[in-house]
This record gives sequence, structure tokens and C-alpha cells, in this order.
Amino acid sequence: MTKKQQEVMMMIYKTQDEVIRQLYEQAVRVRENAYVPYSGFKVGAALLGKSGKIFTGCNVENVSYGLTVCAERNAFFKAVSEGETSFTVLLVVADTPEPVSPCGACRQVMAEFGDFEVILSNLSYQIKRMFVHELLPYSFDKDNLNVGR
Ligand SMILES: [Zn+2]
Repeated sequence: MTKKQQEVMMMIYKTQDEVIRQLYEQAVRVRENAYVPYSGFKVGAALLGKSGKIFTGCNVENVSYGLTVCAERNAFFKAVSEGETSFTVLLVVADTPEPVSPCGACRQVMAEFGDFEVILSNLSYQIKRMFVHELLPYSFDKDNLNVGR
């Protein structure tokens, strides 16, 4: 580990509590399960539910490319299928020069569950902390469906 990596890791360990460190470790671990025979681009996500449970997800590609599902959405769908629909933090990690940024489809799925913290990170221990409303401002949400009813 380089000196710079140590400094940034200190940041991860200092900026928040143990929870952030746990989410990072779990996201890095589940990233190894990514099924990416076409892109080779592995992504891991760890999602903290309000119950305190952590749900992880990795990206799963398909030979019919459009069927590929991202790590973030897999984490949300796993959580919801296990009865969790309220979230406090999502952490996503990939091997990128800058903390990885979620795609538009995943941002819309995040917005479905409200405004919570999203931590973008990379394998160099860098993190960028944001909220859903910053990633997807003026999003299409449940209120839009009620207009005119
Ligand atoms: Zn995505």
C-alpha cells in the first residue's frame, strides 16, 4: 500500500464510524463475485437498511447485453425481496481512478426509496459522499403519478 492509499484510507476510517468501513469491506468483497465475462468491469455495492442489516450486490452481465443488471440495483432488489424498503447509506465500489459514479438507471432506483447518503468509492480507498437528490436532481417520483387524479 502506498503512502497516498494509507492517507485516503485514514479518511475512510475517520470520516464516519465503523459502519462506513463495514460497508466498504463488504462491497469490496462482493465485487469479487461480479459476473462480467464481457466488460471485465467489476462493481460491488453494500446497502445499509434502517433495520441495521447490510445487503450486498454485484453486477451480473448477460450475453444479451441489455439484460445486464448493475451491482447497486442487485443490492436494492435483494433488500426489498427480504422485506427492507428503508435505507440510510449505499456504498458502491469499482476499480476506477476516481470514485465510481452510478449509472442513470440505478439513480432512478435509488430515488424510489427516498433521499439517503450514497458513497462512491474505488479500490484506492477514495470516497465521495453525496445524497440521492444530488445524483438525480428533479427526479421522476411517486408524486408525479398522483397529478391529475
Ligand atoms: Zn447502474
